[in-house]
Amino acid sequence: MSEQHFDCDVLVVGAGPSGLAAAYRVAQSGKSVIVADDNPDAGGQIWRGESKKVTSSEAAAWFEKIRNSKIRFVNGVRIFQQTKPGSVLGEIENDVNHFFYQKLVIATGARERFLPFPGWTLPNVMGAGGLQALVKSGLPIAGKKVVVAGSGPLLLAVADYLKRNHADVLLIAEQAGRGKLAGFGFGLLGQTQKISQALKLRSQLSGVQYLSGCWPIAANGSEKLQSVTLRRGAKDWEVECDYLACGFHLVPNLELPQLLGCQLAKDAVKVDEFQETSVAGVFCAGEATGIGGLELSLVEGEIAGLVAAEKKDLAQALFGERRKHHKFADALNGAFQLRPELRSLAKADTIVCRCEDVRYSELQSSDSWRAAKLHTRCGMGPCQGRICGSAVEFLFGWKAESVRPPVFAVRVGSLRHD
Ligand SMILES: Cc1cc2nc3c(=O)[nH]c(=O)nc-3n(C[C@H](O)[C@H](O)[C@H](O)COP(=O)(O)OP(=O)(O)OC[C@H]3O[C@@H](n4cnc5c(N)ncnc54)[C@H](O)[C@@H]3O)c2cc1C
Repeated sequence: MSEQHFDCDVLVVGAGPSGLAAAYRVAQSGKSVIVADDNPDAGGQIWRGESKKVTSSEAAAWFEKIRNSKIRFVNGVRIFQQTKPGSVLGEIENDVNHFFYQKLVIATGARERFLPFPGWTLPNVMGAGGLQALVKSGLPIAGKKVVVAGSGPLLLAVADYLKRNHADVLLIAEQAGRGKLAGFGFGLLGQTQKISQALKLRSQLSGVQYLSGCWPIAANGSEKLQSVTLRRGAKDWEVECDYLACGFHLVPNLELPQLLGCQLAKDAVKVDEFQETSVAGVFCAGEATGIGGLELSLVEGEIAGLVAAEKKDLAQALFGERRKHHKFADALNGAFQLRPELRSLAKADTIVCRCEDVRYSELQSSDSWRAAKLHTRCGMGPCQGRICGSAVEFLFGWKAESVRPPVFAVRVGSLRHD
Protein backbone atom coordinates (compact mmCIF):
# COMPACT_ATOMS: atom_id res chain seq x y z
CA MET A 1 0.00 0.00 0.00
CA SER A 2 1.38 3.43 -0.92
CA GLU A 3 0.33 6.93 0.03
CA GLN A 4 0.03 9.92 -2.27
CA HIS A 5 -0.13 13.51 -1.04
CA PHE A 6 -2.22 16.24 -2.67
CA ASP A 7 -2.02 19.95 -1.85
CA CYS A 8 -4.51 22.59 -3.00
CA ASP A 9 -6.13 25.86 -2.06
CA VAL A 10 -9.60 24.34 -2.23
CA LEU A 11 -10.63 20.70 -1.98
CA VAL A 12 -14.09 19.79 -3.23
CA VAL A 13 -15.52 16.45 -2.10
CA GLY A 14 -18.15 15.29 -4.58
CA ALA A 15 -18.17 15.62 -8.36
CA GLY A 16 -21.93 16.01 -8.79
CA PRO A 17 -23.41 19.24 -10.17
CA SER A 18 -22.76 21.24 -6.97
CA GLY A 19 -19.15 20.08 -6.67
CA LEU A 20 -18.46 20.75 -10.35
CA ALA A 21 -19.99 24.24 -10.14
CA ALA A 22 -17.93 25.03 -7.03
CA ALA A 23 -14.70 23.75 -8.59
CA TYR A 24 -15.32 25.71 -11.80
CA ARG A 25 -15.74 28.97 -9.86
CA VAL A 26 -12.58 28.31 -7.81
CA ALA A 27 -10.56 27.49 -10.94
CA GLN A 28 -11.81 30.68 -12.62
CA SER A 29 -10.30 32.68 -9.74
CA GLY A 30 -6.84 31.22 -10.40
CA LYS A 31 -6.68 29.24 -7.13
CA SER A 32 -5.75 25.56 -7.23
CA VAL A 33 -8.64 23.13 -6.83
CA ILE A 34 -8.97 19.37 -6.54
CA VAL A 35 -12.24 17.45 -6.87
CA ALA A 36 -12.32 14.07 -5.11
CA ASP A 37 -15.20 11.66 -5.78
CA ASP A 38 -15.79 7.98 -5.16
CA ASN A 39 -17.15 7.29 -8.65
CA PRO A 40 -14.95 6.44 -11.64
CA ASP A 41 -16.18 9.57 -13.50
CA ALA A 42 -17.45 13.02 -12.61
CA GLY A 43 -21.17 13.80 -12.81
CA GLY A 44 -22.68 12.65 -9.50
CA GLN A 45 -26.09 11.01 -9.51
CA ILE A 46 -27.89 12.90 -12.25
CA TRP A 47 -24.99 13.30 -14.69
CA ARG A 48 -23.53 9.84 -14.23
CA GLY A 49 -21.82 8.86 -17.51
CA GLU A 50 -22.49 12.26 -19.12
CA SER A 51 -18.78 13.12 -19.32
CA LYS A 52 -18.47 10.34 -21.95
CA LYS A 53 -21.93 10.04 -23.52
CA VAL A 54 -23.82 13.31 -23.44
CA THR A 55 -27.62 13.22 -23.31
CA SER A 56 -28.39 16.51 -21.54
CA SER A 57 -27.51 19.91 -22.99
CA GLU A 58 -27.09 21.40 -19.50
CA ALA A 59 -24.60 18.67 -18.55
CA ALA A 60 -22.80 19.17 -21.88
CA ALA A 61 -22.42 22.91 -21.20
CA TRP A 62 -21.00 22.27 -17.71
CA PHE A 63 -18.59 19.56 -18.88
CA GLU A 64 -17.35 21.92 -21.61
CA LYS A 65 -16.63 24.61 -18.99
CA ILE A 66 -14.90 22.04 -16.78
CA ARG A 67 -12.72 20.71 -19.62
CA ASN A 68 -11.46 24.24 -20.24
CA SER A 69 -10.62 24.85 -16.56
CA LYS A 70 -7.62 23.90 -14.48
CA ILE A 71 -9.36 21.45 -12.19
CA ARG A 72 -7.60 18.33 -10.96
CA PHE A 73 -9.89 15.33 -10.58
CA VAL A 74 -9.15 12.39 -8.32
CA ASN A 75 -11.79 9.77 -9.10
CA GLY A 76 -12.59 6.52 -7.35
CA VAL A 77 -11.51 7.85 -3.96
CA ARG A 78 -13.64 7.71 -0.80
CA ILE A 79 -12.92 10.40 1.75
CA PHE A 80 -13.28 8.60 5.06
CA GLN A 81 -11.44 10.47 7.80
CA GLN A 82 -10.06 13.82 8.92
CA THR A 83 -6.49 13.65 10.22
CA LYS A 84 -6.43 17.25 11.51
CA PRO A 85 -8.22 20.44 10.40
CA GLY A 86 -7.09 21.07 6.81
CA SER A 87 -6.45 17.47 5.84
CA VAL A 88 -8.50 14.39 5.07
CA LEU A 89 -7.76 10.85 4.00
CA GLY A 90 -9.26 8.99 1.08
CA GLU A 91 -9.01 5.33 0.13
CA ILE A 92 -8.44 4.52 -3.52
CA GLU A 93 -8.03 0.90 -4.68
CA ASN A 94 -5.07 -0.32 -2.61
CA ASP A 95 -3.74 3.11 -1.71
CA VAL A 96 -4.40 5.98 0.64
CA ASN A 97 -4.57 9.57 -0.59
CA HIS A 98 -3.81 12.35 1.84
CA PHE A 99 -5.37 15.70 0.88
CA PHE A 100 -4.19 19.02 2.34
CA TYR A 101 -6.27 22.17 1.74
CA GLN A 102 -6.91 25.72 2.89
CA LYS A 103 -10.66 25.58 2.25
CA LEU A 104 -13.03 22.66 1.82
CA VAL A 105 -16.30 22.43 -0.12
CA ILE A 106 -18.43 19.46 0.87
CA ALA A 107 -20.72 18.47 -2.01
CA THR A 108 -21.59 14.92 -1.01
CA GLY A 109 -25.16 14.95 -2.35
CA ALA A 110 -27.97 12.66 -1.28
CA ARG A 111 -29.08 9.07 -1.47
CA GLU A 112 -32.43 7.33 -1.77
CA ARG A 113 -34.49 6.55 1.31
CA PHE A 114 -35.58 2.92 1.54
CA LEU A 115 -38.39 1.71 3.72
CA PRO A 116 -38.64 -1.94 4.70
CA PHE A 117 -41.71 -3.92 3.64
CA PRO A 118 -42.23 -7.67 3.21
CA GLY A 119 -40.11 -8.89 0.30
CA TRP A 120 -38.05 -5.70 -0.17
CA THR A 121 -34.80 -7.68 0.00
CA LEU A 122 -35.78 -10.00 -2.89
CA PRO A 123 -33.53 -9.90 -5.98
CA ASN A 124 -34.85 -7.39 -8.57
CA VAL A 125 -36.36 -5.08 -5.95
CA MET A 126 -34.08 -2.08 -6.33
CA GLY A 127 -33.76 1.56 -5.51
CA ALA A 128 -35.30 3.64 -8.31
CA GLY A 129 -32.06 5.57 -8.84
CA GLY A 130 -30.15 2.35 -8.27
CA LEU A 131 -31.92 0.59 -11.16
CA GLN A 132 -31.36 3.64 -13.36
CA ALA A 133 -27.63 3.57 -12.51
CA LEU A 134 -27.41 -0.14 -13.34
CA VAL A 135 -29.12 0.41 -16.70
CA LYS A 136 -26.71 3.29 -17.41
CA SER A 137 -23.89 0.81 -16.71
CA GLY A 138 -25.27 -1.75 -19.16
CA LEU A 139 -28.01 -3.81 -17.43
CA PRO A 140 -30.38 -4.90 -20.25
CA ILE A 141 -33.87 -3.56 -19.49
CA ALA A 142 -35.59 -3.67 -22.91
CA GLY A 143 -38.91 -5.50 -22.69
CA LYS A 144 -38.71 -5.96 -18.89
CA LYS A 145 -41.86 -5.18 -16.90
CA VAL A 146 -41.09 -2.52 -14.29
CA VAL A 147 -43.19 -1.03 -11.48
CA VAL A 148 -41.80 2.29 -10.21
CA ALA A 149 -42.94 3.13 -6.67
CA GLY A 150 -42.25 5.20 -3.58
CA SER A 151 -42.14 8.97 -3.53
CA GLY A 152 -40.64 12.04 -5.12
CA PRO A 153 -39.90 13.45 -8.58
CA LEU A 154 -37.04 10.97 -8.99
CA LEU A 155 -39.70 8.32 -9.73
CA LEU A 156 -40.73 10.26 -12.85
CA ALA A 157 -37.14 10.81 -14.00
CA VAL A 158 -36.38 7.10 -13.56
CA ALA A 159 -39.59 5.94 -15.26
CA ASP A 160 -38.81 8.24 -18.19
CA TYR A 161 -35.24 6.95 -18.44
CA LEU A 162 -36.32 3.31 -18.31
CA LYS A 163 -39.06 3.88 -20.88
CA ARG A 164 -36.60 5.56 -23.25
CA ASN A 165 -34.46 2.45 -22.84
CA HIS A 166 -37.43 0.32 -23.95
CA ALA A 167 -38.51 -1.03 -20.56
CA ASP A 168 -42.22 -1.78 -20.20
CA VAL A 169 -43.01 0.65 -17.36
CA LEU A 170 -46.32 -0.64 -16.02
CA LEU A 171 -47.13 2.16 -13.59
CA ILE A 172 -45.76 4.73 -11.19
CA ALA A 173 -47.09 4.48 -7.61
CA GLU A 174 -46.60 7.74 -5.66
CA GLN A 175 -47.43 7.64 -1.95
CA ALA A 176 -48.20 11.38 -1.78
CA GLY A 177 -51.89 12.16 -2.12
CA ARG A 178 -53.53 14.08 -4.95
CA GLY A 179 -54.10 17.19 -2.79
CA LYS A 180 -50.41 17.55 -1.90
CA LEU A 181 -49.36 16.99 -5.51
CA ALA A 182 -51.84 19.58 -6.77
CA GLY A 183 -50.47 22.09 -4.25
CA PHE A 184 -46.95 21.35 -5.45
CA GLY A 185 -47.97 21.85 -9.09
CA PHE A 186 -49.65 25.12 -8.18
CA GLY A 187 -46.45 26.26 -6.43
CA LEU A 188 -44.56 25.79 -9.70
CA LEU A 189 -46.55 28.57 -11.35
CA GLY A 190 -44.09 31.32 -12.23
CA GLN A 191 -41.17 28.88 -12.51
CA THR A 192 -41.19 28.48 -16.28
CA GLN A 193 -38.17 26.17 -16.44
CA LYS A 194 -39.71 23.74 -13.93
CA ILE A 195 -43.08 23.82 -15.70
CA SER A 196 -41.53 23.06 -19.06
CA GLN A 197 -39.50 20.19 -17.51
CA ALA A 198 -42.69 18.80 -15.93
CA LEU A 199 -44.65 19.08 -19.18
CA LYS A 200 -41.86 17.38 -21.13
CA LEU A 201 -41.75 14.48 -18.66
CA ARG A 202 -45.53 14.19 -18.75
CA SER A 203 -45.57 13.92 -22.53
CA GLN A 204 -42.68 11.42 -22.54
CA LEU A 205 -44.52 9.30 -19.99
CA SER A 206 -47.85 9.36 -21.79
CA GLY A 207 -49.41 5.92 -21.57
CA VAL A 208 -47.79 5.17 -18.19
CA GLN A 209 -50.30 5.22 -15.32
CA TYR A 210 -49.39 7.60 -12.45
CA LEU A 211 -51.24 6.63 -9.28
CA SER A 212 -51.12 9.14 -6.43
CA GLY A 213 -51.87 7.96 -2.88
CA CYS A 214 -50.57 4.51 -3.82
CA TRP A 215 -47.65 2.50 -2.42
CA PRO A 216 -46.19 -1.02 -2.35
CA ILE A 217 -47.08 -3.18 0.65
CA ALA A 218 -45.27 -6.37 -0.42
CA ALA A 219 -42.86 -7.71 -3.02
CA ASN A 220 -43.66 -11.33 -3.82
CA GLY A 221 -41.57 -14.19 -5.20
CA SER A 222 -39.48 -17.13 -4.01
CA GLU A 223 -36.06 -16.89 -5.72
CA LYS A 224 -36.61 -13.40 -7.11
CA LEU A 225 -39.33 -10.82 -7.58
CA GLN A 226 -42.45 -12.05 -9.39
CA SER A 227 -45.05 -9.49 -8.42
CA VAL A 228 -45.72 -6.50 -6.23
CA THR A 229 -48.78 -5.87 -4.07
CA LEU A 230 -49.94 -2.26 -4.15
CA ARG A 231 -52.35 -0.40 -1.88
CA ARG A 232 -54.50 2.59 -2.77
CA GLY A 233 -57.25 3.60 -0.38
CA ALA A 234 -59.10 0.46 0.66
CA LYS A 235 -57.94 -1.53 -2.37
CA ASP A 236 -54.95 -3.94 -2.49
CA TRP A 237 -53.97 -5.66 -5.73
CA GLU A 238 -51.05 -7.55 -7.26
CA VAL A 239 -49.09 -6.61 -10.40
CA GLU A 240 -46.74 -9.12 -12.07
CA CYS A 241 -43.38 -7.58 -12.93
CA ASP A 242 -39.66 -8.26 -13.44
CA TYR A 243 -38.37 -5.27 -11.45
CA LEU A 244 -39.64 -3.02 -8.69
CA ALA A 245 -37.80 0.32 -8.73
CA CYS A 246 -38.57 1.77 -5.32
CA GLY A 247 -37.35 4.74 -3.29
CA PHE A 248 -39.07 7.09 -0.85
CA HIS A 249 -37.61 10.51 -1.76
CA LEU A 250 -34.00 11.37 -0.85
CA VAL A 251 -31.91 11.95 2.28
CA PRO A 252 -28.74 14.09 2.43
CA ASN A 253 -25.33 12.38 2.82
CA LEU A 254 -24.25 13.82 6.16
CA GLU A 255 -21.57 11.46 7.42
CA LEU A 256 -18.53 13.46 6.26
CA PRO A 257 -19.78 16.91 7.32
CA GLN A 258 -20.82 15.50 10.71
CA LEU A 259 -17.41 13.91 11.13
CA LEU A 260 -15.82 17.32 10.51
CA GLY A 261 -18.03 18.83 13.22
CA CYS A 262 -20.48 20.73 10.98
CA GLN A 263 -23.77 21.47 12.72
CA LEU A 264 -27.03 20.24 11.24
CA ALA A 265 -30.41 21.94 10.92
CA LYS A 266 -33.59 20.31 9.62
CA ASP A 267 -31.74 17.03 8.91
CA ALA A 268 -29.23 18.72 6.57
CA VAL A 269 -25.95 20.63 6.90
CA LYS A 270 -26.52 24.09 8.37
CA VAL A 271 -24.94 26.83 6.24
CA ASP A 272 -24.98 30.64 6.32
CA GLU A 273 -25.82 32.82 3.34
CA PHE A 274 -22.29 32.22 1.95
CA GLN A 275 -22.75 28.43 2.15
CA GLU A 276 -20.22 28.31 5.00
CA THR A 277 -20.87 25.66 7.65
CA SER A 278 -20.43 26.10 11.40
CA VAL A 279 -16.77 25.12 10.86
CA ALA A 280 -14.77 28.08 9.53
CA GLY A 281 -13.37 27.50 6.05
CA VAL A 282 -15.63 24.50 5.42
CA PHE A 283 -18.46 25.11 2.93
CA CYS A 284 -21.32 22.89 1.88
CA ALA A 285 -23.42 22.95 -1.28
CA GLY A 286 -26.02 20.85 -3.07
CA GLU A 287 -28.26 18.22 -1.60
CA ALA A 288 -26.17 17.76 1.57
CA THR A 289 -27.68 21.11 2.63
CA GLY A 290 -31.22 19.87 1.87
CA ILE A 291 -33.06 18.22 -1.01
CA GLY A 292 -33.77 20.84 -3.65
CA GLY A 293 -33.02 19.60 -7.17
CA LEU A 294 -30.41 20.26 -9.83
CA GLU A 295 -30.69 24.04 -10.24
CA LEU A 296 -30.39 24.72 -6.50
CA SER A 297 -27.36 22.39 -6.31
CA LEU A 298 -25.65 24.27 -9.14
CA VAL A 299 -26.20 27.76 -7.76
CA GLU A 300 -25.20 26.72 -4.23
CA GLY A 301 -22.05 25.17 -5.66
CA GLU A 302 -21.20 28.36 -7.52
CA ILE A 303 -21.71 30.46 -4.37
CA ALA A 304 -19.60 28.10 -2.24
CA GLY A 305 -16.82 28.07 -4.86
CA LEU A 306 -16.81 31.83 -5.20
CA VAL A 307 -16.67 32.43 -1.45
CA ALA A 308 -13.97 29.77 -0.96
CA ALA A 309 -12.03 31.66 -3.66
CA GLU A 310 -12.58 34.94 -1.78
CA LYS A 311 -15.01 36.42 -4.32
CA LYS A 312 -17.89 37.23 -1.98
CA ASP A 313 -19.17 40.09 -4.12
CA LEU A 314 -19.68 37.79 -7.12
CA ALA A 315 -21.35 35.24 -4.87
CA GLN A 316 -23.84 37.81 -3.60
CA ALA A 317 -25.05 38.40 -7.16
CA LEU A 318 -26.37 34.80 -7.16
CA PHE A 319 -28.42 35.07 -3.97
CA GLY A 320 -31.63 36.01 -5.82
CA GLU A 321 -31.46 32.95 -8.04
CA ARG A 322 -30.81 30.72 -5.03
CA ARG A 323 -33.83 32.21 -3.22
CA LYS A 324 -36.06 31.24 -6.15
CA HIS A 325 -34.83 27.64 -6.07
CA HIS A 326 -35.18 27.48 -2.27
CA LYS A 327 -38.89 28.17 -2.68
CA PHE A 328 -39.12 25.20 -5.03
CA ALA A 329 -37.21 23.06 -2.52
CA ASP A 330 -39.63 23.95 0.30
CA ALA A 331 -42.61 23.06 -1.87
CA LEU A 332 -40.95 19.81 -2.97
CA ASN A 333 -40.21 18.61 0.56
CA GLY A 334 -43.68 19.55 1.77
CA ALA A 335 -45.42 17.71 -1.06
CA PHE A 336 -43.45 14.47 -0.75
CA GLN A 337 -43.58 14.10 3.05
CA LEU A 338 -44.08 10.48 3.96
CA ARG A 339 -47.55 9.46 5.15
CA PRO A 340 -47.77 7.81 8.62
CA GLU A 341 -49.33 4.61 7.19
CA LEU A 342 -45.89 3.73 5.77
CA ARG A 343 -44.69 3.14 9.35
CA SER A 344 -46.72 -0.05 9.45
CA LEU A 345 -45.37 -1.54 6.21
CA ALA A 346 -42.73 -3.64 8.00
CA LYS A 347 -44.02 -6.81 9.68
CA ALA A 348 -42.39 -8.54 12.68
CA ASP A 349 -40.17 -10.74 10.49
CA THR A 350 -39.30 -8.06 7.89
CA ILE A 351 -35.57 -7.42 7.67
CA VAL A 352 -34.74 -3.79 8.47
CA CYS A 353 -30.91 -3.90 8.46
CA ARG A 354 -29.99 -6.01 5.47
CA CYS A 355 -26.24 -5.99 6.21
CA GLU A 356 -26.68 -7.58 9.65
CA ASP A 357 -30.03 -9.38 9.04
CA VAL A 358 -31.86 -7.53 11.81
CA ARG A 359 -35.64 -7.96 11.76
CA TYR A 360 -38.26 -5.41 12.79
CA SER A 361 -39.32 -7.41 15.88
CA GLU A 362 -35.73 -7.39 17.20
CA LEU A 363 -35.74 -3.58 17.23
CA GLN A 364 -39.04 -3.00 18.97
CA SER A 365 -37.66 -3.35 22.50
CA SER A 366 -34.92 -0.70 21.95
CA ASP A 367 -35.49 2.95 22.77
CA SER A 368 -32.65 4.53 20.76
CA TRP A 369 -30.44 3.96 17.75
CA ARG A 370 -27.53 3.42 20.14
CA ALA A 371 -29.39 0.75 22.11
CA ALA A 372 -30.49 -0.95 18.90
CA LYS A 373 -26.88 -1.01 17.66
CA LEU A 374 -25.60 -2.45 20.94
CA HIS A 375 -28.25 -5.16 21.12
CA THR A 376 -28.68 -6.14 17.48
CA ARG A 377 -25.76 -4.67 15.40
CA CYS A 378 -28.40 -2.79 13.34
CA GLY A 379 -26.53 -0.27 11.14
CA MET A 380 -23.08 -1.73 11.92
CA GLY A 381 -22.53 -3.67 8.69
CA PRO A 382 -20.64 -2.65 5.55
CA CYS A 383 -23.05 0.18 4.60
CA GLN A 384 -22.69 1.67 8.10
CA GLY A 385 -26.39 2.45 8.39
CA ARG A 386 -26.65 4.27 5.05
CA ILE A 387 -29.68 2.14 4.14
CA CYS A 388 -31.36 1.30 7.45
CA GLY A 389 -30.46 4.58 9.23
CA SER A 390 -33.08 6.72 7.51
CA ALA A 391 -35.58 3.84 7.78
CA VAL A 392 -35.24 3.51 11.56
CA GLU A 393 -35.42 7.27 11.86
CA PHE A 394 -38.78 7.22 10.10
CA LEU A 395 -40.03 4.07 11.84
CA PHE A 396 -38.89 4.78 15.41
CA GLY A 397 -37.75 8.43 15.42
CA TRP A 398 -34.14 7.47 16.28
CA LYS A 399 -31.26 9.62 15.08
CA ALA A 400 -27.56 8.76 14.97
CA GLU A 401 -25.98 10.36 18.06
CA SER A 402 -22.49 10.71 16.62
CA VAL A 403 -20.42 9.84 13.58
CA ARG A 404 -17.06 8.21 14.06
CA PRO A 405 -14.28 7.62 11.56
CA PRO A 406 -14.04 5.91 9.16
CA VAL A 407 -17.25 7.09 7.45
CA PHE A 408 -16.89 4.22 4.97
CA ALA A 409 -15.74 0.67 5.68
CA VAL A 410 -11.99 0.72 4.80
CA ARG A 411 -9.05 -1.66 5.09
CA VAL A 412 -7.23 -1.82 8.43
CA GLY A 413 -4.07 -0.56 6.72
CA SER A 414 -5.84 2.65 5.71
CA LEU A 415 -6.54 3.46 9.36
CA ARG A 416 -2.95 3.67 10.49
CA HIS A 417 -3.06 7.51 10.65
CA ASP A 418 -5.23 7.58 13.76
C1 LIG B 1 -29.69 7.72 -6.88
C2 LIG B 1 -30.10 9.10 -7.38
C3 LIG B 1 -30.47 9.28 -8.71
C4 LIG B 1 -30.87 10.54 -9.16
N1 LIG B 1 -31.27 10.68 -10.46
C5 LIG B 1 -31.78 11.85 -10.87
C6 LIG B 1 -32.31 12.02 -12.19
O1 LIG B 1 -32.31 11.08 -12.98
N2 LIG B 1 -32.82 13.24 -12.53
C7 LIG B 1 -32.83 14.28 -11.64
O2 LIG B 1 -33.32 15.38 -11.98
N3 LIG B 1 -32.32 14.18 -10.41
C8 LIG B 1 -31.82 13.00 -9.99
N4 LIG B 1 -31.35 12.88 -8.72
C9 LIG B 1 -31.30 14.08 -7.86
C10 LIG B 1 -30.00 14.84 -8.17
O3 LIG B 1 -28.92 14.03 -7.82
C11 LIG B 1 -29.93 16.15 -7.41
O4 LIG B 1 -31.03 16.94 -7.73
C12 LIG B 1 -28.69 17.00 -7.64
O5 LIG B 1 -28.28 16.99 -8.94
C13 LIG B 1 -27.62 16.62 -6.65
O6 LIG B 1 -26.38 17.22 -6.92
P1 LIG B 1 -25.22 17.19 -5.83
O7 LIG B 1 -24.01 17.76 -6.46
O8 LIG B 1 -25.71 17.83 -4.57
O9 LIG B 1 -25.01 15.66 -5.44
P2 LIG B 1 -24.70 14.32 -6.24
O10 LIG B 1 -25.02 14.41 -7.66
O11 LIG B 1 -25.34 13.26 -5.42
O12 LIG B 1 -23.09 14.19 -6.11
C14 LIG B 1 -22.45 13.89 -4.90
C15 LIG B 1 -21.20 13.10 -5.21
O13 LIG B 1 -20.39 13.02 -4.04
C16 LIG B 1 -19.87 11.70 -3.93
N5 LIG B 1 -19.51 11.46 -2.53
C17 LIG B 1 -20.32 11.49 -1.44
N6 LIG B 1 -19.60 11.28 -0.32
C18 LIG B 1 -18.32 11.10 -0.70
C19 LIG B 1 -17.10 10.83 0.00
N7 LIG B 1 -17.07 10.75 1.36
N8 LIG B 1 -15.95 10.68 -0.71
C20 LIG B 1 -15.96 10.81 -2.07
N9 LIG B 1 -17.08 11.07 -2.79
C21 LIG B 1 -18.24 11.21 -2.12
C22 LIG B 1 -21.04 10.86 -4.44
O14 LIG B 1 -20.66 9.56 -4.81
C23 LIG B 1 -21.51 11.68 -5.64
O15 LIG B 1 -20.79 11.36 -6.80
C24 LIG B 1 -30.91 11.63 -8.26
C25 LIG B 1 -30.52 11.44 -6.93
C26 LIG B 1 -30.12 10.20 -6.48
C27 LIG B 1 -29.71 10.02 -5.03
